[in-house]
Amino acid sequence: MSCIFCKIAKGEVKSTTLYQDDKVVAFPDINPKAPVHILVIPRKHIASVSDLTEADEALVGHLFTVASKLAKEQGISEHGYRLVVNCGPHAGQMVAHLHLHILGGRQLLMMG
Ligand code: 5GP
Ligand code: ZN
Repeated sequence: MSCIFCKIAKGEVKSTTLYQDDKVVAFPDINPKAPVHILVIPRKHIASVSDLTEADEALVGHLFTVASKLAKEQGISEHGYRLVVNCGPHAGQMVAHLHLHILGGRQLLMMG
């Protein structure tokens, strides 16, 4: 398995861990599009939203709860932030391991 986010989750590729538990890991995006740009991923390899099953519902909810906590910790909760999940080529998904982007710290423009 050559998935970069699996490697980050296992600690095989270096990143700054901002949060981790037995289900999810959060780390800064390597190419930040905003002053705060964090990725929250499940430890389990799920390629995209298209690959989710009902068994993943609690895990997906947990990704959002962790994102909410991180946004507060990072001081972006008051002014607001954006959560983004890209799915597939038309959305520009580059890494085929489900991830939730947290973007904040500046006024964000509408998406195209
Ligand atoms: P996507 O377009 O798939 O939703 O977003 C993938 C994101 O992962 C991009 O914002 C990209 O900058 C980030 N990324 C890709 N490779 C790495 C990496 O090795 N480390 C980190 N921290 N972020 C990465
Ligand atoms: Zn993976």
